[in-house]
Amino acid sequence: MSSATVPLVESVREVAREQVAPAAAGVDRDRLFPESSMRALAQRGALGLLVPETSGGAGGGLAALVEACEAVGAACASSGMVFLMHSVAAATVAGGEGERAGEYLEAMAAGDTLGTLAFSERGTGAHFYAPELAAERENGGVRISGRKSFVTSGGHADVYLVLVKAGDGEELDCYAVGGDDGVQFEGSWEGLGMAGNSSVAAQFDCLVDDAARIGAAGEGQGLVFGTVAPVFLAGLAAVNVGIASAALATTVEHASGRRYSDGGSLAEIQSIQHALADMEITTRAARLVVNDAARLGDAGDEGALVALMASKVIATEAATSVTQIALEVCGGQGYTSALPIERHLRDARAGAVMAPTNGVLRNWIGKALAGLPVP
Ligand SMILES: Cc1cc2nc3c(=O)[nH]c(=O)nc-3n(C[C@H](O)[C@H](O)[C@H](O)COP(=O)(O)OP(=O)(O)OC[C@H]3O[C@@H](n4cnc5c(N)ncnc54)[C@H](O)[C@@H]3O)c2cc1C
Repeated sequence: MSSATVPLVESVREVAREQVAPAAAGVDRDRLFPESSMRALAQRGALGLLVPETSGGAGGGLAALVEACEAVGAACASSGMVFLMHSVAAATVAGGEGERAGEYLEAMAAGDTLGTLAFSERGTGAHFYAPELAAERENGGVRISGRKSFVTSGGHADVYLVLVKAGDGEELDCYAVGGDDGVQFEGSWEGLGMAGNSSVAAQFDCLVDDAARIGAAGEGQGLVFGTVAPVFLAGLAAVNVGIASAALATTVEHASGRRYSDGGSLAEIQSIQHALADMEITTRAARLVVNDAARLGDAGDEGALVALMASKVIATEAATSVTQIALEVCGGQGYTSALPIERHLRDARAGAVMAPTNGVLRNWIGKALAGLPVP
């Protein structure tokens, strides 16, 4: 991690601990978008973590992102998701450039603009990199008309990066669309976990100009695999390390503090000690893999993409396993909202099904190892 981003990451950890974590139970219970947590992060400059310094950001890379995402994800997974999708959007705008990129990036770094991605569609599901929605030329501009699904921060973000087929060709374009520029959001997020992430469907019918395109014409696929995928994979992996570490901390505290009538504690039972050890071993290993993949990504190592893909699978499966053990250790109390374990368990289940899903990643890792083209 570059020395310039160290104080910002430290500041993110402090905000996560002091402002994001206390709001997490309410965000989950009432399925609230984590507005105040995002404002607190914005005030510390965290929304500019991946924005280049020339546009007022911190110029951070994947190493800084994974530290920040772990901290926010541990405090509140819904906030971690929202922070992550904003950071992916910022990195995409910075990576693709475009006539208005500087304007978007400055507003993101200042904390005035929250970004997200509107890539997924019902018709292509987990294969978000192959949209059917096509941009049509109209009156010198581009009409984007159709439905995107699962848009995190839907209805709350200010700018939506929309992936579309470029006209009648097979190439892809990515456009930045403002939340007020002809977007209707459908319903509310009713998912098992990540209750506050507002991942809703969005109906687009808007006319944008070419200046709103991110990246050169037809270069959407390059942006998806060159920028979106690495940043998303690293960040989501780190959010899941955060979920696992939060579940571990709560479980250790509960096992140590829970006493029976004979004075003995849960932590004194050997099988419970083994369970705590398994949680620690799994979380620690996942964190190392994620940090290493981020380091390789920042260094532009040729093995970085496989490392990042593997880190997402490892970290999301680690979070599922650790939260499952946490539930068993904390027993009936863990099953109720008296402890945050049931929340962590629900939040952890989202990671594997978020695209690139773990099933698709296994295909891609195998292909990459065999020297076959990905996807
Ligand atoms: C909490 C949450 C937040 C999200 N946020 C965003 C967002 O901000 N922006 C956005 O664009 N999208 C977002 N998504 C969407 C997500 O990335 C996926 O596109 C979506 O979950 C796909 O769901 P589906 O039911 O259509 O999957 P389907 O395509 O129906 O897949 C179902 C299952 O089949 C498996 N499968 C399908 N094809 C293959 C294959 N070829 N090989 C192996 N396995 C396969 C998948 O792994 C998956 O487990 C979000 C999703 C969730 C759950």
